[in-house]
Amino acid sequence: MSIGITHLGSGSRGNATVISSGEYNVLVDCGFSLRQTEKRLRIAGFDPNSINSIVVTHHHKDHSASALRASKKWSSNLYCNSETASRMKLVENEYSVFGSLDRIQFSSELSMLAIPVPHEDADNVALVASDGKGERAAIVTDLGEAPDDLIKHLSGCNHISIEANYDHEKLMSGPYPDSLKRRISGRGGHLSNRQTGEVLLRSMSERLKSIVLCHLSESNNAPHLAESEVLLAIGDEFEGNISISKQEGPEFSYWTGQSEPSKILAA
Ligand SMILES: [Zn+2]
Ligand SMILES: [Zn+2]
Repeated sequence: MSIGITHLGSGSRGNATVISSGEYNVLVDCGFSLRQTEKRLRIAGFDPNSINSIVVTHHHKDHSASALRASKKWSSNLYCNSETASRMKLVENEYSVFGSLDRIQFSSELSMLAIPVPHEDADNVALVASDGKGERAAIVTDLGEAPDDLIKHLSGCNHISIEANYDHEKLMSGPYPDSLKRRISGRGGHLSNRQTGEVLLRSMSERLKSIVLCHLSESNNAPHLAESEVLLAIGDEFEGNISISKQEGPEFSYWTGQSEPSKILAA
């Protein structure tokens, strides 16, 4: 079995990604309006009612905005950790809780491991999806640095979607106040292109066939900067395919084991 990865769009104005076994569909984060989410799902070829579960990585609006409403409308299970649930003001029966390093078992062919990552004012997790037969795909966004534990779980993944939030020089010479610059580049902020390259290099294996760079800052980054900095770090080691998920989407889908993405043609 392989795992499908479809980013509906990614950035500070919303994130949502479908992880699919073909039979079972999980939406990781639901940070667009419900209307936008349904529109983007349909463009990507998913009936919204076919989303069996929603996992929210952390409570920030760009990851959680319409998660509760979507879970009710589509009768999907909503999963998050307890801090995220309380920050989203969820009440009992509205969600199922998972803990750090818990494996969420959706079906016999799809599970996800929740790995805590440092992110200011939030209890955020990276997720590694597994088909139980050796195929694995990771989604990693909103973290100031990558703990060793995360690197361990990323190693051997067939696919990694990871944020490349900002270009260090662009952030530092840009218009943001110094306090905000420090927050973004600090331990609880986001990964720079350079850090993302280092994380990928440290978790590189010959199994890794596809990478999606996501959550790019519109003020402090540009697709060509993110891609070239990451390639500079991993170019010699990596023979697969790199794509960028932008704020608008969806544009493509990957299946693990496939080195080329399938293009999605917007209706
Ligand atoms: Zn975010
Ligand atoms: Zn966040």
